[in-house]
Amino acid sequence: MTISKNLEALKTSLPEAVTLVAVSKTKSNEAIMEAYASGQRIFGENKVQEMVEKYETLPKDIEWHMIGHLQRNKVKYMASFVHLIHGVDTEKLLAEINKQAAKHDRRIPCLLQVHIAEESTKFGFAESELSELITRIDEFPNVEIKGLMGMASFTENFNQIQQEFRGLKKRFDQLFKNTEAAVLSMGMSGDYPIAIAEGSTLIRVGSKIFGARNY
Ligand SMILES: *Cc1c(COP(=O)(O)O)cnc(C)c1O
Repeated sequence: MTISKNLEALKTSLPEAVTLVAVSKTKSNEAIMEAYASGQRIFGENKVQEMVEKYETLPKDIEWHMIGHLQRNKVKYMASFVHLIHGVDTEKLLAEINKQAAKHDRRIPCLLQVHIAEESTKFGFAESELSELITRIDEFPNVEIKGLMGMASFTENFNQIQQEFRGLKKRFDQLFKNTEAAVLSMGMSGDYPIAIAEGSTLIRVGSKIFGARNY
């Protein structure tokens, strides 16, 4: 019952315009079904194989979001059903998604990941690469770029997280002001209130719903 309670509490605190992705990586089908029973239909995973297994065994009205760093050779396994790919961080990955989507005669919705954190270990395009790629986005007709995704630094420093999200929102406004239903994916369990205050339209929350992950 904890999961549905956590979920209810979280949902009532969210503005209506903010979409919640329940991050279910490492969590069991039982845990996911508890969230499903209280109405959640959008789930996020960061491993393709795990997502495919869950997709095959769980109800078909679930929207599966790939939120993690993605290897090109794995795209084909989820190309038929993935609802949104958040972490598109290289042009080569974008090209592969385009290719696999074409095989299924679909356009796969994607977000471009922008590097906003100070840690170099985090993924994403640099500002300059991003602007250049956007000018050539027609080269990828089977990909639908819906918006941007970013992860703030892992820090207790509120101001720093705020500034990182604020910068991303600014880029988002510049690049996607004419895109219908554009998506700005920012905010996780530790920082989603800041992300929402800075204009996030979609948050990715795991441990706050499902409890800590044991790897
Ligand atoms: C795991 C993960 C999350 C959720 O993290 P929590 O801190 O458990 O909310 C969000 N985004 C990405 C990219 C993740 O890998």
